[in-house]
Amino acid sequence: MFYWDNGLVLTKPRLAVDSSRRQPRAFISHAHSDHIARHEYALCTPETALLYQHRLGPRPTLPLPYRQPIDWGGLRLTAWPAGHCLGSAMLLAEDGDRSLLYTGDFKLGESATAARAEMPQADILIIESTYGHPDYRLPPRQQAIDDLLRLVRATLADGAVPVVVAYALGKGQEVTRLLTAAGLPVVQHRSVFEVSQVYEACGVDLGRIAPFTGKVEPGWTLVAPPNAGTFERVGRQVRIAATGWAVDQRSKYRLRVDHAVPLSDHADYDELFEAVARVAPRVVYCTHGPESFVDCLREAGYDARLLGRPRQGRLF
Ligand SMILES: [Zn+2]
Repeated sequence: MFYWDNGLVLTKPRLAVDSSRRQPRAFISHAHSDHIARHEYALCTPETALLYQHRLGPRPTLPLPYRQPIDWGGLRLTAWPAGHCLGSAMLLAEDGDRSLLYTGDFKLGESATAARAEMPQADILIIESTYGHPDYRLPPRQQAIDDLLRLVRATLADGAVPVVVAYALGKGQEVTRLLTAAGLPVVQHRSVFEVSQVYEACGVDLGRIAPFTGKVEPGWTLVAPPNAGTFERVGRQVRIAATGWAVDQRSKYRLRVDHAVPLSDHADYDELFEAVARVAPRVVYCTHGPESFVDCLREAGYDARLLGRPRQGRLF
C-alpha cells in the first residue's frame, strides 16, 4: 500500500506524502516549510492550499476538504483535522481491503486557531512522534496559557515590551489569539502578520492585531519568529518563547529567551499513546521521533516499527 523513498509514497497513485522535494503528485498535510515543495500537483485542504501558495506562489492544487472522501488513483482519500495549525490534516487512504492513516504533525488537545484533531480507526497507522519520550509530558494547556498571560502582564506593568517568540505559521497566530482574547493587543512581525492575513481570510478571527513597523506602543505585545533578531529599537524587552520544548528547563538558554512557556502544537508523550489507542491499528510505523518510542509501543503490546530510513521497499 505504501513504500518509503526519502519519504512516504502511497503505491497505487504514486502519491508522495509531505515531500520536501518536488513531486509530480503530492499530498501536503500542512504548510510548514519542511513538508512542502513546488510540486506539479498537490492534494491538500483548501486552507493549506492558501498557506502553501502564500509561501511558494500560485501552484496547482486539488482541494481535499475535511471529512469529504474522494476516489483518486485507486484509493479513497479523506482528510481529517490534525489540530496542529490552520488546515493541518491527517490522511486516511482506503483501498477496499485495508486502511492507512497518516497523521502528519498533530496534537489532540484544543487549539485557539486550528480545528481539533479527529482520528478515524485504521489498519495501518503512520504516526509523527516528535515528543515520543516520557520526558515530554506537557502540563495542562490552561497552566501554560496562564503562565504566558502572567509573564506578559508583568512585563507590561514593569514598562518593558513583551516579545513572544513563536513560529510565523501556526504558533504565532495561536499565541496572538490567546493574548487578544485576554484583552492584550498584539503587533506582529511582518512574516507572522502575512500568515495571519491568510488565517483571517479563512475566517479565523485573531482579535486586535497590527503589523510591526519598528515601534511597540505601551500595552502592546510583539509576536515575532525565532529568526527575527532582537529589535534593539523597541527598548527594554522580555523575551518569552512558546514551545513544547519548554518542558526542558534548559531550553530557554538554547532559545536565547528570558522565559519559555510549554505551549505545543505537537502531541506530547501521553497524547501519542492516546492517539494510537484511538486508531487501534494492526501495525504502527513511527516517524520523526526517538527510536525508543517504538520500544515503548512494543512494550504496550503494539506491533510497532520505525519508519524513515532512506529507502525501505514495499512495506505493507
Ligand atoms: Zn508542522
